[in-house]
Amino acid sequence: MYHTSYALNLNSNVIQTVMDQWLELRSKYLHILLEMEGRPLTPKCSICKKHGDVKCPDCFGTPLFCQGCCVNAHRHSPFHRPLQWTATHYTQVSLHYLGFVLFIGHEGAPCPQTVEVCIYPCFQCIHLLILI
Ligand SMILES: [Zn+2]
Ligand SMILES: [Zn+2]
Repeated sequence: MYHTSYALNLNSNVIQTVMDQWLELRSKYLHILLEMEGRPLTPKCSICKKHGDVKCPDCFGTPLFCQGCCVNAHRHSPFHRPLQWTATHYTQVSLHYLGFVLFIGHEGAPCPQTVEVCIYPCFQCIHLLILI
């Protein structure tokens, strides 16, 4: 039985198809989708409210972050792929590029019983941790 393609508009008592309803709202939804792809006029971090230039399309709602808040917000989502604003567009960067370090155990935080040996993080060195 096929009976779901029509809906009654209670405000005007006019029977519309679902497609008619969609066509009325189409431009509004497309505008919102395009707006989500761009950069806001005042790009502020969704957490600390400072200037933000990183957004994560893998997070629900595609929030905007500053670099530090993005790294902290992804302690439990290390596989997200953020985008960073360049002068003209967003480009994909890795969390590692933003300074993310994956800590295993301790709920994503560094082990409180260790001291980091390498004080200048770089991409070539492996961070050695020594138990106190
Ligand atoms: Zn922030
Ligand atoms: Zn994310």
